[in-house]
Amino acid sequence: MNHFDYRDGALHCEDVPLARIAEEVGTPVYVYSTATFRRHAQVFRDGLKALGARVHLAYAIKANPNVAVLRVLADEGYGADVVSGGEMARALAAGIPARDIVFSGVGKTRAELARGVDEGIGQFNLELEEEGAVLAQIAHARGKRARATLRVNPDVDAGTHAKISTGRAENKFGVPIDQAPAMFDRLAPLDGLDLTGVACHIGSQLADLSRLEEAYRRVGRLVEELRGAGHTITRVDLGGGLGVPYKQGDALPSPAEYGAMVARVTEGWDVDLMFEPGRVIAGNAGVLLTEVVWVKPGVTNPYVIVDAAMNDLARPALYDAWHDFAAVRPNGERITANIAGPVCESGDTFAMGREIDRVASGDLAVFRTAGAYGATMASTYNSRDLVPEVLVDGDRYAVVADRIAAETILAAERVPEWLTPAKAAG
Ligand SMILES: *Cc1c(COP(=O)(O)O)cnc(C)c1O
Repeated sequence: MNHFDYRDGALHCEDVPLARIAEEVGTPVYVYSTATFRRHAQVFRDGLKALGARVHLAYAIKANPNVAVLRVLADEGYGADVVSGGEMARALAAGIPARDIVFSGVGKTRAELARGVDEGIGQFNLELEEEGAVLAQIAHARGKRARATLRVNPDVDAGTHAKISTGRAENKFGVPIDQAPAMFDRLAPLDGLDLTGVACHIGSQLADLSRLEEAYRRVGRLVEELRGAGHTITRVDLGGGLGVPYKQGDALPSPAEYGAMVARVTEGWDVDLMFEPGRVIAGNAGVLLTEVVWVKPGVTNPYVIVDAAMNDLARPALYDAWHDFAAVRPNGERITANIAGPVCESGDTFAMGREIDRVASGDLAVFRTAGAYGATMASTYNSRDLVPEVLVDGDRYAVVADRIAAETILAAERVPEWLTPAKAAG
C-alpha cells in the first residue's frame, strides 16, 4: 500500500499533485511519501509483534539514505544498518544514536572500524576472522569493547537475481557457517571484543520465505553448537531482504507472514533479534517522476523517450528490473511501446513491448516503486544533472536533495596547467 493515487484524474503523492512538483522542481525528480515510509515502518514492526520486546530494527540505509528519510525512520524508532563510513556519518547526522547503529559491510577499512569504535557503534557485523582481530585491537587500544556478531554464510540460494544474492557459498559475504565455531573459539576470548552474536543476510528482493527459513534454521543450529561449546550468545541478526511488488499483481510475502515464520523458527532461541529491512520500507514510498520528450516510431513498437535515464534509475539496466510506468494524467487510451531514456546506450531502456497509458511529448509519467535503490544509485553519466529528491508530507513538500547541475560537476574538474592554454590549431 502506498500514497500515490489518482484524484480527479491526476496522480498525487498524498495531497500534492505530481504535476505541481514537476512544474516547480523540474523533471526528472524522485518523489517520496512520508506517510508511506511511516506506514511501512509500522507494518514491518507489527509483523514482528509476536516476537515480543527483544526485537531491534535497523533500517538498511543503503536502500534510501536521504537524510530526511532517515529522520522519518528515526522518528519511527528505527536504528540504522550502515555499510560504509559515509553511511555511518549520515545515520549520525540524522540523529540516530550510535548504539542503535549496526555496521555491516565486507570491506570496512581500519579507519572506518576506528571511527565506529570512537562513535560507540552498537553492533559490528564481522565478515572475516581477521576483521575481528583488528577490531579487537582497535577497541582494546582505546580501553573499550566493541560489540560484534559474526556474519555467517549459510550457503542457501535466495532464489533472487544473481547480483543481489549474498548467501551462497561462493558469494563474498560472511564466513562459511561450518567454520564459524572455530573462529568463535579464537575471537571470543580477545580483549576489546564482545563477540556474542551471529548475523546472516542472504539477499534482496526475496519472494520465497522457505529460502530464508532454511537459512535461519541453519543459524539456529549454529547458535546451539556455539552454546554447547561454552559461548554466550545473546543476539542474532536476521538481516533484511524481504521483497516488494514491482508489478501490479505480484504476490510477495507480507511482513506478517515473515514475522510468523520468524516466530516459528526462532522459538526458544532466547536471544535479542536484529532486523535490517531496506527495500520493504522504502521501495513503494517513492516514484521517479519524468516527462516524455519524444514518441519515436519504432520497427514494431514506438519508443517513448523520457527525460529520466539509466543514470537516474539504474535497476532496469543493472538487474533487468521491472518498474510500473503510469501517466500522471492518463487519457484512458493504452498503447504498446518501448520506454527508454536519452543516454547513449541500448541498456538505457526501461521496458520493451509494454502496454502502457498512451502518452505524448510533454506528458508527465512515473516509474513506480522507485523509493529503494533508486536515487542512491544515480550517477551523472552522459554529463547529466544529478537527480533531485522531494519529500511530501500531507499537502506540503520539500526538496530534500538538490539537483546538482552538470555545470557544477564540470566546475569541480581541472585542466592541469601543462595542458593550458589550448594550442591553436595549425
Ligand atoms: C542490503 C542489505 C540489507 C537490506 O536489504 P533489503 O533487501 O533492502 O531489505 C540488510 N542487511 C545487509 C547486510 C545488507 O547488505
